[in-house]
Amino acid sequence: MKTDLTPLIEHDLSDECGVCRTQDIIEMALLPAAAAWEQTNELPRFSVALHGAASLLGAMLEEGVARNQIEAALSVLLDEIEDRIADDRAFGGPTQGNA
Ligand SMILES: [Zn+2]
Repeated sequence: MKTDLTPLIEHDLSDECGVCRTQDIIEMALLPAAAAWEQTNELPRFSVALHGAASLLGAMLEEGVARNQIEAALSVLLDEIEDRIADDRAFGGPTQGNA
């Protein structure tokens, strides 16, 4: 199956942007939950984050999305996140170490 992931990663900064809304939900709900699960279950830091991300992507594999497409999309998103982190640091943004 050939799935085009482009609509899931290309976005603008409008209020209706689905990518921005998705990222907001992840930041508000999923990231704190993952950190809490790690603490509650005495799991190493980032363990739920890493395995959670892998399992979610694995569900895409199971649905037939090609691995190279997933990896390419992930690479674009990580580039974007790295840029944002660099910007945040340059502007003295969020405090470090509490993500
Ligand atoms: Zn957006």
